[in-house]
Amino acid sequence: MTEPESLPEGVERREIDGQQRLATRGEPVYGEPTEGEWRAWDPTRSKLGAMLELGMDTALEGGDTVCYLGAASGTTVSHVADFAGPTYAVEFAPRPARDLLSVADSRPRLFPLLADARKPETYAHVVEADVDALVQDVATRGQARVALENRQFLADDGRLLLAVKARSEDVTRDPNEVFADVRETLEEGYEVLESRRLDDYHADHLGIVARPRR
Ligand code: SAM
Repeated sequence: MTEPESLPEGVERREIDGQQRLATRGEPVYGEPTEGEWRAWDPTRSKLGAMLELGMDTALEGGDTVCYLGAASGTTVSHVADFAGPTYAVEFAPRPARDLLSVADSRPRLFPLLADARKPETYAHVVEADVDALVQDVATRGQARVALENRQFLADDGRLLLAVKARSEDVTRDPNEVFADVRETLEEGYEVLESRRLDDYHADHLGIVARPRR
């Protein structure tokens, strides 16, 4: 395990259940172990958690404004909302979006949005301009395109934190080829600062940190 270079304020490495684990402070969501008000952030359940665990430089800071695409039932975005500022969570499947509403009950800065991340015009009136971080984990075909279409929300010095699932693009291709294509498309609007395979925690996934091109 690599020690993270820096963790955002509000994310700590704490001893929980006899192990040093990434943790945030908030109501438990997915049966994760807790210690007092701290809840373990399980990198095997969260690509962003894996990126932090692997020491990727996400540039996330406590109080950041975040737009999160592919929130599902809130496993990862609940941790984000524990330390971030306003956190807009986009999910298009009604069932997980319902669970997300309960996750938001104890998190006043978390705003669930039932919307399709491929149609940013449907939530552009809600998400504030110039967010510090665009986090994306949609696991659907066209992941680079979704990131490009949502670049409009990101501040010039903001960061895209993208998890790419190779099999969502093409189950039959070598993941490295898929990742190369995704990167090439992404370069139309972003400069990739760091990328790392997340296989220790998520098979055939790539974590990417990028910033918008001016
Ligand atoms: N990020 C979640 C977490 O760590 O807790 C897990 C996300 S899961 C891998 C991918 C989610 O993206 C699914 O819930 C799926 O419904 C959602 N999704 C896929 N395509 C989407 C789209 N175009 N717009 C919004 N959500 C989408």
